[in-house]
Amino acid sequence: MSAAATLNVKKEPVDLMDIQDQLLKVVESHPNSITTQEIFDKLTSFSSQNVIDGLNALLKKNKLQVRKKANDELVYVLNTTSVVNNLKGADSEEKLVLQIIEEAGNKGIWNKIVHEKSKITIKQLDKILKNLEAKKLIKRVSSVAAARKKIYMLYDLVPDISLTGGSWYSEQRFDSEYVDLINACCLRILQQKVESCEASKNLLDPMAYHNSTFMSSSEILKVLTESNVSKITLSLNDIETLLETLVFDGKVQKRVVSSSGANSSSSSSQQPQQVTLYRTIPPIIQPTGLMRVPCGHCPVMNDCEVGGVISPETCVYMDEWLNF
Ligand code: SF4
Repeated sequence: MSAAATLNVKKEPVDLMDIQDQLLKVVESHPNSITTQEIFDKLTSFSSQNVIDGLNALLKKNKLQVRKKANDELVYVLNTTSVVNNLKGADSEEKLVLQIIEEAGNKGIWNKIVHEKSKITIKQLDKILKNLEAKKLIKRVSSVAAARKKIYMLYDLVPDISLTGGSWYSEQRFDSEYVDLINACCLRILQQKVESCEASKNLLDPMAYHNSTFMSSSEILKVLTESNVSKITLSLNDIETLLETLVFDGKVQKRVVSSSGANSSSSSSQQPQQVTLYRTIPPIIQPTGLMRVPCGHCPVMNDCEVGGVISPETCVYMDEWLNF
């Protein structure tokens, strides 16, 4: 919780691989092509220079193609040239397996399905898969839904969120501590916004004061990114998912407005778009003492016993709760 309150921490250098992953996701979600400006608008948590560096790195790796439109505007598309066509010195079975894996895209494919589709024996298939892995044409990935399944995809692909579980999963496990931390940070950012507006409160115009206490998700993400609280790069979607939980918890209220009426600086397009704004609200009912008992979310609860190394008699959290 202390990390949530202290947002001014040392800035770390931007991870170029992380930007490239985000760029691939953005370009992949626009199969017809995407302009540079549209990419900037989607990746507001990175500087323009970082995005340009990431695009250049992906063009160099042949993962993206750049095209010029009739109005001379540059657009980007994924380089979908089949790896099977470029595979040299491989036998027909290897090509068949690679083709099946390629068709599965970034959702990957279970080795048993590859076996069923290719009709290659399990023993021979294992050999082919190992061979393709050694050539760095495919990779084995884990799924949060089935950690033991052997799932394969092309080496250069970024695994789909259905496999990784998204930003809130770490090593195939839901990272509840990390979620709590970012949740607390979002709440703190919104509280700081209200506090700063409170200081300059215009009593003659209460509506203007009320409206100024809202923040858009992109503004919250910007503050979070600049504070370097998060160990990974969070997307706007990640933050909005988290903010939604705060809304359901009754800690935050939200409203949807036209971008022309929002205090957001993220939208640069001409057409007004809908923007969701958030504002912290005081709880209507304070939680009861029983609801605040620390044991309910204690990570060492199973090791805690009367007279033990970890015990209620020596527990500082229990003391704090009893003295509340
Ligand atoms: S008494 Fe303290 S250590 Fe034991 S379960 Fe409760 S919070 Fe955890």
